[in-house]
Amino acid sequence: MLRLTEIILPLSTSQDDIDATLRAAACSRLGIAADALRALTIFRRSYDARKRSAITLTYSVDVEVADEAAVLKRVAGLRTVTPTPPMQYQYVGHAPADLPEASRPVVIGFGPCGLFAALILAQMGFRPIILERGRVVRERTKDTWGLWRKNTLQPESNVQFGEGGAGTFSDGKLSTQVKDPKHYGRKVLQEFVAADAPPEILYVSKPHIGTFRLVKMIEQMRAQIASLGGEFRFESRVDDIEIEDGRVRGVRLAGGEFIAASHVVLAVGHSARDTFRMLHKRGVFMEAKPFSLGFRIEHPQSVIDRARFGPSAGHPVLGAADYKLVHHAGNGRAVYSFCMCPGGTVVAAASEPGGVVTNGMSQYSRNERNANAGIVVGIEPKDFPGIEDSPLAGIDFQRHWEKRAYELGGGDYSAPAQRVGDFLAGRPSTALGSVTPSYKPGVRLTDLSDSLPDYVIAAIREALPAFERQIKGFSMHDAVLTGVETRTSSPLRITRRDDFQSMNTNGLFPAGEGAGYAGGIMSAAIDGMKVAEAVALHLLGRDDIT
Ligand code: FAD
Repeated sequence: MLRLTEIILPLSTSQDDIDATLRAAACSRLGIAADALRALTIFRRSYDARKRSAITLTYSVDVEVADEAAVLKRVAGLRTVTPTPPMQYQYVGHAPADLPEASRPVVIGFGPCGLFAALILAQMGFRPIILERGRVVRERTKDTWGLWRKNTLQPESNVQFGEGGAGTFSDGKLSTQVKDPKHYGRKVLQEFVAADAPPEILYVSKPHIGTFRLVKMIEQMRAQIASLGGEFRFESRVDDIEIEDGRVRGVRLAGGEFIAASHVVLAVGHSARDTFRMLHKRGVFMEAKPFSLGFRIEHPQSVIDRARFGPSAGHPVLGAADYKLVHHAGNGRAVYSFCMCPGGTVVAAASEPGGVVTNGMSQYSRNERNANAGIVVGIEPKDFPGIEDSPLAGIDFQRHWEKRAYELGGGDYSAPAQRVGDFLAGRPSTALGSVTPSYKPGVRLTDLSDSLPDYVIAAIREALPAFERQIKGFSMHDAVLTGVETRTSSPLRITRRDDFQSMNTNGLFPAGEGAGYAGGIMSAAIDGMKVAEAVALHLLGRDDIT
């Protein structure tokens, strides 16, 4: 197979006969007749919107041709034609058929990291036992809507906790910056497609899935793991871990049951504060790490579409426009957009009673009225009060601001909000303008100036007008800020060695976002796969971890 890159077509190219258009372009580049082109698949599609009046689509395709060697010889030296590299994920090994019961790995947490750790272990024959504190995804969906519609928070079943993990009620963006020579990312996308994700996620440059589809996919992936011998225990919170002579012996569930295990994948996400505390008490090595604090901002999606796509705003191939913004503020803080959700909604993402946390989600169609994104400011462990005494100080810092937001919101899980114009002018908002905030159960208009540390407020005040210079309308008076965004990443790292085991606890494999090794669905899933490989190699008595 050959890969042809940089096939550039105008945005106006009809998608109805895109196959024929690409075939013609491929034949012309290779200098072959139409009947010598046996097959063509799209490998990647992206767009270039730098010139808004002339947006183009860029394709890479893989083709099968009649006489590949001759074609390659003819185009030798052409940078845009190369043999297609192998992209198949390779398992590192397989469990023996008589794997002892005591060797079954335990996976704590069934978010993207735990899901892919469990899936790869199951596909290699290791029959993992999966322990998840929250409920199955259908029940969890009802509980999550209970907060959004009825102001009732279930501490064990919510946006952060339950089958599918934190990314289940999300925009389902699937991009990642992870270097990936072993094709983990493609394997993740292929598994998603096998579980009914839209096939285009395999080739579009900014793939996303949206919430409704994710829910169904997670059920299908659970069924696959179970059919391979995996065992699921929902509503099974791990409350303790038994460590003897620096080695894990097993875990204890909230109900008291002990499960013996020599290999435990810890994929608990960034909100498992009680679990972090327990691990710290048991002496598992961990250290504080930076994260970010800020607000969600909402604009009409049409404002973002116009600013990014000009006259092509609304074109179906482009979809709802996104953005990525960074500003280095005068006080030394970096302000950046986080988890931008085109055509989506701001969601209540708290997991603890008496706290308000924001985040964003969307459906596959991304056709809600507003665009939203976190506008967050980087903070360091030295900013956390009490950091000299405990690596858990970042958690207390997050909780402090979440409680403050709860109070400012009126104490019923409504979120404090302010119009951008009022925020920049330093006066409370008393009425909404043309932008209706989407956060449920609702917002309470207020002054956000003391809802976060002064240096965060100052940095955001400086950044919004700077962002206006990149996206016209960004600091429009009526745009709405909703607070607070605190769970941008884990406030600590459960540090591991090169063999993926905890620094000081053999058999414990910290993984994913909670352990500080991922940020986002794709990177968490990929980390889960790497940890599954490390567990398998250890169980097989091999040390060839790469
Ligand atoms: P998690 O997904 O947090 O999963 C951890 C799991 O462990 C949870 O299910 C939890 O219940 C369970 N658990 C915790 N403690 C215990 C215990 N003691 N015992 C048993 N089980 C336990 N990322 C993107 O890339 N794209 C997006 O569009 C996107 N949108 C998001 C929208 C929202 C609303 C949220 C909240 C997050 C979003 N993210 C998005 C971030 C993404 O969801 C996370 O990066 C990802 O889920 C982290 O995966 P994880 O498996 O490491 O942890």
